[in-house]
Amino acid sequence: MSSVRITVPTPSHQALVPITDKVAEAVARLGIEDGAAHLFVLHTTCGLLVNENADPDVARDILRRLEELVPWRDPKDRHAEGNTAAHVRSSLVGSSLTIPVQGGSLVLGAWQGVFLAEFDGPRTRHVVVTAL
Ligand code: ZN
Repeated sequence: MSSVRITVPTPSHQALVPITDKVAEAVARLGIEDGAAHLFVLHTTCGLLVNENADPDVARDILRRLEELVPWRDPKDRHAEGNTAAHVRSSLVGSSLTIPVQGGSLVLGAWQGVFLAEFDGPRTRHVVVTAL
């Protein structure tokens, strides 16, 4: 087994959902001791990011700033589903991460956490974690 899939239910239209614990479980299931975990999200309207997990206002501010940068409504959008903003925000944040693993643990800074960034929820999202 070189990869596992984790499932992330998201609570609202926009959210930064902490997934550090789920990723750590995946690393344990994969038996990664020293190397890295590669994360890839299987969707086009959410993304993955690493950022501060101490002050929840950081997550709120990130979502608000992305909303200001890419407003939900733009009369020039052509995509019939009406969620072009979610596709653009997903593209800005990115669909993958690589996190080092040492001694079986994720190597993260004191204030860092791994988040799934939901931009068009609530939905059930899937992330593939691959041992490197
Ligand atoms: Zn769409």
